[in-house]
Amino acid sequence: MHRTGVVAGTGNGSTFGHVVDGEERGSLDGSTFSTVDPWTRSPWAEVALGGSAEADLAVAAARRAFDDGPWPRMGHGARGALLHRFADLVEEHSAELALADSRDMGKPVAAAAAMDVPRTALNIRFFADHARLSTAEAYPMDSGHHAYSRFEPAGVVAAIAPWNFPMMLESWKFAPALAWGNTVVLKPAEDTPASATILARLALEAGIPAGVLNVVHGYGPGSAGEALTTDPRVDRITFTGESGTGRAIAAAAARNLTPVSLEMGGKGANLVFDDADLDNAVAWSIKAIFSNAGQVCLAGSRLYVQRGALEEFTARFVAAAEEMVIGDPTDPATEIGPLASEEHWTKVRGFLEQPGGKVLTGGTGDGWVVRPTVLVDVAPDARIQCEEVFGPVVTITPFDTEDEGVRLANDTPFGLNAMVFTENLSRAHRVSAALRAGTVWTNCFFVRDLRAPFGGVGDSGWGREGGTFSREFFTEPKAVVMAIGDRT
Ligand code: NAD
Repeated sequence: MHRTGVVAGTGNGSTFGHVVDGEERGSLDGSTFSTVDPWTRSPWAEVALGGSAEADLAVAAARRAFDDGPWPRMGHGARGALLHRFADLVEEHSAELALADSRDMGKPVAAAAAMDVPRTALNIRFFADHARLSTAEAYPMDSGHHAYSRFEPAGVVAAIAPWNFPMMLESWKFAPALAWGNTVVLKPAEDTPASATILARLALEAGIPAGVLNVVHGYGPGSAGEALTTDPRVDRITFTGESGTGRAIAAAAARNLTPVSLEMGGKGANLVFDDADLDNAVAWSIKAIFSNAGQVCLAGSRLYVQRGALEEFTARFVAAAEEMVIGDPTDPATEIGPLASEEHWTKVRGFLEQPGGKVLTGGTGDGWVVRPTVLVDVAPDARIQCEEVFGPVVTITPFDTEDEGVRLANDTPFGLNAMVFTENLSRAHRVSAALRAGTVWTNCFFVRDLRAPFGGVGDSGWGREGGTFSREFFTEPKAVVMAIGDRT
């Protein structure tokens, strides 16, 4: 089936290569894999399939560009100018990039154009400016010495990305890495390879030197992904994906003592108190679980509603869920497309086959679609209540007191984010402090300040990125101590 609204480079039969040392190329043995459009359920593009040999070439290119090339030696101003040009090109290619991610994983094109593309450009611009405007500390010493800090680029960064917000999360990694003078090997998820190659093409067009942003395609274990995590020439590994994969990557990286930043899965709690503004709570709670068909690490998949608001909230929430427009991702009206792949759809369907509670609305739809699904009376130890479903599936559980709500919300090994809906200011601060999570949103969701720490507690993360937190990870902070008085 041909797609409507296809723009250059996103039609059936498109090809996407690795980008190594400034050249787009196939694999050494010519291997490729197909990427499948989850709406048509047919392959739409052919992608170079890399393994350890291609990862080796990409790391070698990044190493040369770091050790001998101009990128780490440029000032922040010159690097920032090239990064801003790169962001300009991302914006100019918005239609192509949005369609590439949509064709790869079923995301509505309108959502990708409204959020993923602008956030990709913003990530690049923000970190370019952040690095340029960043200050270092000085430490005047009584001993007649003067110490100050510098932030040296760390070296070669391996960036391993998931498929749910492909270009946006890839740029969250490579933008700060590049802004601080590192070189990068990006391994996009195998389900969503297209936008990474397009981004690397645009980086070259912007004038970013060859070898600075390399892309290698392939799978994880026993493939290009794993090869990057065991290569001693890699100085940093930044990963976003499942918690189990994060554990494997941390173990692999430990052999070379390579520092790792892990952004992993979630099981976000969403607490709605009796005194909440219900219009606002319903609207944000719907977005929190059904945006991107629930394939969001930050999804509010566990709703806890205080008893007094339970009936009204549930009725309004179910009605809003049933109004959501499901369909062809290229239709501008579509709010929910298919799940990203047959494999993922099978996994989510498995949860729904043994829901462990009562389904108020939802279930599977045509093709790889899962309709917005709401469950109640779910046992606390049911899989659907405890594990990350990563689909448009939410459980609603009542609670009575604030302490009970906080206890239920914290009863998980995950800790990426939580939401609180209340009009009581003291409670908002109290509960935000008590929740065990990397981010707590009060009366809103998904709003980000890129200077703020981003990451998770427990199984959700290791380390933080964002603003100065990204600087700490992507640089080697150095102390310089100078004798300025008596040198004895
Ligand atoms: P995944 O862990 O299956 O794969 C992520 C990436 O890791 C892919 O590029 C994959 O090829 C690679 N990989 C897999 N095994 C590897 C190995 N042994 N060595 C090296 N690389 C390996 O995750 P996914 O299914 O692509 O993404 C969904 C998951 O990502 C969910 O758990 C979601 O919550 C999480 N996620 C977290 C955040 C966050 O910011 N915390 C954001 C988005 C998604």
